[in-house]
Amino acid sequence: MRTIDTIYIDGAFVTPHGDDRAPLFNPATEKQIGEVRLGDADDVNHAVAAAKRAFPAMAHTTPAERAVMLRRLHKAVAARADDMFAAMVEEYGAPSSFTGFSVQHAAALFEDMAKTVETYAFRRTIGRAEVSMEPLGVVAAIIPWNSTLGFIASKIATAIAAGSTIVVKPSEMSAIQTQVMAQAVHAAGLSKGVINIVNGYGPIVGAALSTHPDIAKISFTGSTMTGRAILTAAAQTFKRVTLELGGKGPQILLEDADLATAIPIALASGFVNSGQACVAGTRLLAPESRLDETLARLKDHIETLKVGAATDPNAQIGPMVSQKQWERVQSYIRLGIDEGATLLTGGEGRPDGLEHGWFVRPTVFADVANQMRIAREEIFGPVLCVIPYRNEAEAIAIANDTSYGLQSYVLSSDLDHAKRVAGQLQAGRVVINGAPHEPLAPFGGFKQSGIGREYGAFGLDGFLEPRAVLS
Ligand code: ADP
Repeated sequence: MRTIDTIYIDGAFVTPHGDDRAPLFNPATEKQIGEVRLGDADDVNHAVAAAKRAFPAMAHTTPAERAVMLRRLHKAVAARADDMFAAMVEEYGAPSSFTGFSVQHAAALFEDMAKTVETYAFRRTIGRAEVSMEPLGVVAAIIPWNSTLGFIASKIATAIAAGSTIVVKPSEMSAIQTQVMAQAVHAAGLSKGVINIVNGYGPIVGAALSTHPDIAKISFTGSTMTGRAILTAAAQTFKRVTLELGGKGPQILLEDADLATAIPIALASGFVNSGQACVAGTRLLAPESRLDETLARLKDHIETLKVGAATDPNAQIGPMVSQKQWERVQSYIRLGIDEGATLLTGGEGRPDGLEHGWFVRPTVFADVANQMRIAREEIFGPVLCVIPYRNEAEAIAIANDTSYGLQSYVLSSDLDHAKRVAGQLQAGRVVINGAPHEPLAPFGGFKQSGIGREYGAFGLDGFLEPRAVLS
């Protein structure tokens, strides 16, 4: 049993004032593996005060100095890759492909941001005005449990690039991963108070940050419902916000797609991070003319996907993070059946041979109408809805008929055709034929998938405020 009983404030690991304890579980075994002591509003006050003291010096650093800090963070995080991998396996249980990506991605984010700082136009001349891009002040980052390492890294990296200081509140379910990241941050040796990390519950620590008068900006990743609460709280003091929220990503399978390659890509996009991903492509829009073939191939391919613990190198789908998430997915599978969708494969309960662990059966629903709740609400598990369409215009209309707009997908054997369709989708990102992540391209949502963008220069814009001096 691990006990995590410190938080990171003002350059030191300190005992929190709060004394709530949250259990930590291995989702593949359901066994408790540890306990974390959580901070409270008092701890938030200390962390924000430390970040506020550190801000003036940080705001006066040059872009070159910030790039040096980012590269120190990159090195320190990369040095802990093995420990981060182990923590993620134990506490989160994602398949090794996702865990490997996450660990590498977390370190790379600092290097990517160093490159951004080196090319970003912090000073611009517009007519007689000299415009400088100024840091906003102390930033708060509020983070979910489904990609802890990457989210902590991207938000810290952007704050440093901007010349800000930061207080990070991760999910209480990610305390082991957070601990390794906090140790790496400490090892990077930045000035005290620049980076602070406070474990705690959302309605306590998250809410204290969202209302704190000395927080200038909130960068939040999580559910649309919590994003709305944070936006409302932040409005009282006009905090700037970057919100990366939910999604119900459409994948348009065009009529010309080669199904032998498209179906494995569609399932990988639908079940990415075991379906616990805001970017997951959870609505597969299939042409009626090729529906039977599509369903047959989906059924065949899904049977080749192995569900299992992160310790199994062949597992492609891991457990849900918690009992609560497992039950949530089960309830949506029941709902789909009640709503009249046809269960093509999967269903309630655990996959054969897995009696323990929060594993769910990868599930595909056919005959889904876009108005059903399973097609409109984020399920956050490996559940794919297949929605037939008659023609391309209808496919685009169905794709855009959602309150979300984070990431959409197009599958086609004709790239120009795919791009024409992509250009009509209301989404912050459109991925064609499973294209890989592009680290410096903007990421974020249209509509209720959020406000603002992350990564690269677009991400940095959201952490800066222009000041124009006229002479
Ligand atoms: P998830 O279920 O994916 O964790 P949430 O949106 O509920 O999504 O949580 C994301 C983050 O927001 C977590 O760190 C959580 O503790 C925090 N959070 C939850 N409720 C609030 C709130 N009212 N104010 C601020 N942060 C919150």
